[in-house]
Amino acid sequence: MAQVVKIRTIEHLTHDVLKIVLDKPEGLTYNPGQAVDFAINKPNWENEWRSFTFTSLPEDNFIEFNIKVYPSHEGVTNELQKLHEGDEILIGDVYGDIQYKGEGIFIAGGAGITPFVSILRALDKEHKIGNSKLIFANKTKSDIISEQYFNHLLGSNFINVLSNETIQGYEHGYVTAELIKNQIEGHKYFYLCAPPPMMTAVESQLKSLGIQDEAIIKEGF
Ligand SMILES: Cc1cc2nc3c(=O)[nH]c(=O)nc-3n(C[C@H](O)[C@H](O)[C@H](O)COP(=O)(O)OP(=O)(O)OC[C@H]3O[C@@H](n4cnc5c(N)ncnc54)[C@H](O)[C@@H]3O)c2cc1C
Repeated sequence: MAQVVKIRTIEHLTHDVLKIVLDKPEGLTYNPGQAVDFAINKPNWENEWRSFTFTSLPEDNFIEFNIKVYPSHEGVTNELQKLHEGDEILIGDVYGDIQYKGEGIFIAGGAGITPFVSILRALDKEHKIGNSKLIFANKTKSDIISEQYFNHLLGSNFINVLSNETIQGYEHGYVTAELIKNQIEGHKYFYLCAPPPMMTAVESQLKSLGIQDEAIIKEGF
């Protein structure tokens, strides 16, 4: 059954991504990488369920989400922009296909970073980052979620790919098979989360590099 929780803080993480911190529902358990059914507890919105991924850690006494806002959809994410501290959210069932299996390459597009925020935070806390790599595709530098944190955590294992901007030190264009190939050595698992067109493209790139289905852990947004 859904539980009602209050917003503790709501702020912009980037120009179009909100960071929302909420009270933790009683008894809630989840694994890093998992998502939950989420609705706004106000008239006309309480039955509009959407999926969002925890960016907090299971042991935190709060839950956190990073949510990209789509004003043109006039849907839930647009409505979230109008909310304040103390407003209520409904939290339902937990689910999601992405779970950590072992060291690998994380490949994300835009808000598809969210499952990896939680997984990488957990690895950071356990001092198990090792040789994990993150390939993160965005349109521009201003779209990159938590760039500073990933730079600090991963150093040269954080590869940014920008499609609409050319900046020194950032790859330009889309994620390609060649870019993945250059990072692949010694890596067994490939974690993928992105909007549908990028999912399709990167999955076929991974196949072309001989990666088996069992080694690809994925979720489409
Ligand atoms: C498992 C899972 C986890 C996810 N986790 C996250 C997360 O942590 N963070 C995050 O940011 N996102 C996440 N997403 C994506 C997120 O669920 C969607 O972005 C969100 O549901 C959008 O809700 P919305 O109501 O604003 O818009 P939508 O539900 O996309 O659209 C509302 C209505 O707008 C119309 N519409 C749809 N597309 C368009 C368009 N292109 N132009 C104009 N109108 C349109 C349709 O009529 C639709 O009914 C996740 C998705 C999944 C499946």
